[in-house]
Amino acid sequence: MWSWIWTRSGDFMVKSAYYVALKERDKERAGPSNDNVNEGWKKLWKAQVPSKIQNFSWKPSNQALPMRNNLIKRQIVMDYICKRCGEEVESVEHVLVQCKEAQRLWYLLPLRLSFNQGVVTSFKDWVWNHIKIIKDKGWWNIFWSLCWTLWLAMNDLIFNGVECNVMVRMGKALNVLEEYRRANEFPKLREKKKVGEGK
Ligand SMILES: [Zn+2]
Repeated sequence: MWSWIWTRSGDFMVKSAYYVALKERDKERAGPSNDNVNEGWKKLWKAQVPSKIQNFSWKPSNQALPMRNNLIKRQIVMDYICKRCGEEVESVEHVLVQCKEAQRLWYLLPLRLSFNQGVVTSFKDWVWNHIKIIKDKGWWNIFWSLCWTLWLAMNDLIFNGVECNVMVRMGKALNVLEEYRRANEFPKLREKKKVGEGK
């Protein structure tokens, strides 16, 4: 038998329910927890982008990408300035959101994100702000593909010295999505054909 934990007697009271609701609201106001964000992401892009992009998408918010601002703390690199623009410290927020090249990409794409709202200090909070208002799955598929592409492009530049322009990157990201969509559609079409043949 369960009991209501929010009153001493263990009985449910409307007043205590209200108190719990207020606490939950305050928690939300305090900012997103990892659970909130992860839950939001699961709902939004479940099985709609290739697994390599899904695997990537939890990393920027969990400090799992080897950015220079972290590598310099561990004395792995001596220089923490972004290789693309040469102007700012290379962090997740910079590479995926605020570097000039990233901003061009975000703005040019169908997502039309602009950055008049000021400096983005936390990638996780930035994503959470979008999760609250954008529920379209197609939008999120493009969003994660682009984050992933920006990350690959940065690696290409650092390790291979390959500069790749914003339009090419955009095309590559959309191609990956399109290939994935087709690959997932064809098995269904084949199934339909088989059913048709059996008649
Ligand atoms: Zn930069």
